[in-house]
Amino acid sequence: MSTQPQQFSPVTSDFAPAITGSTPAAEDGFQAALAEWRAVLGPQHVLTDQATLDDYARSTLPRGTRPRAVLRPASTDEVSRVAAIANQYRVPIYPISCGKNWGYGDRCAPTDGQVIVELSRMNRILEVNTELAYAVVEPGVTQGQLYDFLQQHNIPLWIDPTGAGPTASILGNTVERGYGITPYGDHFAQIAGMEVVLPTGEVVQTGFGHYGNAKAWRVFPRGIGPYLDGLFTQSNFGIVTSIGVWLMPASPHVELCLFSADQDQAVDELVERVRWLLLHRVLVGAVNLMHRNRILTVLRQYPWELMGGRTPMSEEVAQQLARQRQIGTWNGVAALYGTRRQVAAARAEIRRVLKASVDRLAFVSEGKLRLARRIPWLVKLVTGMDVGQLLAAVEPALGIVKGKPNAVSLNTCWWRSKRQPANALPDPHDHCCGVIWFSPVIPMTAGHLREFRRLAEPIMAKYRFECCITLTAVNPRAFDCTLPVLYDADDPEEAQRAAACHQELLSACAAAGYLPYRVDIHSMPLVTSPSSSFGMLCRRLKSALDPNRVLAPGRYVIKP
Ligand code: ADP
Repeated sequence: MSTQPQQFSPVTSDFAPAITGSTPAAEDGFQAALAEWRAVLGPQHVLTDQATLDDYARSTLPRGTRPRAVLRPASTDEVSRVAAIANQYRVPIYPISCGKNWGYGDRCAPTDGQVIVELSRMNRILEVNTELAYAVVEPGVTQGQLYDFLQQHNIPLWIDPTGAGPTASILGNTVERGYGITPYGDHFAQIAGMEVVLPTGEVVQTGFGHYGNAKAWRVFPRGIGPYLDGLFTQSNFGIVTSIGVWLMPASPHVELCLFSADQDQAVDELVERVRWLLLHRVLVGAVNLMHRNRILTVLRQYPWELMGGRTPMSEEVAQQLARQRQIGTWNGVAALYGTRRQVAAARAEIRRVLKASVDRLAFVSEGKLRLARRIPWLVKLVTGMDVGQLLAAVEPALGIVKGKPNAVSLNTCWWRSKRQPANALPDPHDHCCGVIWFSPVIPMTAGHLREFRRLAEPIMAKYRFECCITLTAVNPRAFDCTLPVLYDADDPEEAQRAAACHQELLSACAAAGYLPYRVDIHSMPLVTSPSSSFGMLCRRLKSALDPNRVLAPGRYVIKP
């Protein structure tokens, strides 16, 4: 039988996703399942009160979904029993780790009425191997927790933090195939064995793990025979209850390379040169290229006063704000790792390659930052920059590339909010932040970037949103572009416009071949269209593993 190559069929309504989950279980079955879950977990870990359900329905997207209950198991055995009960009574369940999935769905399932299985109580660091540089963690282990553990025990290993902040889990991001910007930035590539609970309750280990006595499980993740780890990422085939992740050995010396270009078209040449540096391994970690607008969203909220309440931000105001902070139109950041001599050699090569295409190029080490703190007037004299401003911008970035998570990137969520931003560790929900991520993968050439911008920028302008592009080199050949649609969640009209804008971006870019690496809960139909052979294979796998379709219906693999 021949099948059509997959075509993207746009979802027609802004708010009504074209997803059909499994039909919610009949009330009797649901009540029976609740009773059994209470017996297994204890009643305090089976939550059905309205306040909890309201809380879990909150979303940074224009629309969340409402769960039917929230379960909080504390061990693999409990997860297995939760799944078996769900399967017996045909009650859809949706696993999350810590639920910091901002801008992609937060703690919400793709459809209403699923039972959230939150794994944040499973927060044990099961192993840290200092010689072989890996850790094994449960789903509730956060980035901050693993970082603190390594620090407290003086273990010279670094995690690869994402921008989701210290309270986000390691495992949740990895099963979504997220990324950071250290040389260990492609999180899927660092997976070292998984333990998975299948929808029917069986527990399996991937790779060599199922042999029980395998010595190389965590250092040779593919094992022998079919390599299954990919099946349990971006899918609804299993609940991952622990994961091995490779960690980066602390580098003897680290420097940040910061560069910027004032002319918009300079980005074309920068892309070509950055690719050369990555392909030739002068740069070993990711490079971030950020448009001015994106940096402004991190540094401040929307200039409502300067704009007299109008949107989007005008070019004049954007330029004025960028000038005040010495931000170029395109700004790059990369990290250099190695011994001092290796870093010095890379620095010289980067200077040679980038010099002609940038207006500013600087290398910042911790030593230089210490000096800046001690002699601020000298820094002001040499760079013209206020030291406070410099440190505020550079210190978190230097922290991130050395494995220290922070919540600075989350500031972006506050951009259009008219409320005061929170201090400490912010929860975007508490401040009515609105964000929908659009994350297409762009081949790393100037031509592809131009083509992508030609599509995306007019759509953002049409819906009165700023185009806030970051390009992250996830490998030497591809950028993951993150382009958030940022809106004021207190303003229903703006929220509706944001949803429509995101939908049009997704449709137009997918039609042109620029597909996202990951999607939010309302955009899942993009992934496995019924007509493609890929979609049909996914559904056959789903039917085999989850005959009653109880696990995360609508997540990536859509119902046949
Ligand atoms: P984080 O804790 O890092 O914020 P989330 O818990 O929000 O991450 O996870 C992101 C998404 O990944 C969830 O919405 C869910 O669909 C999926 N996911 C998270 N944890 C698991 C897990 N243990 N097993 C299977 N899928 C998971």
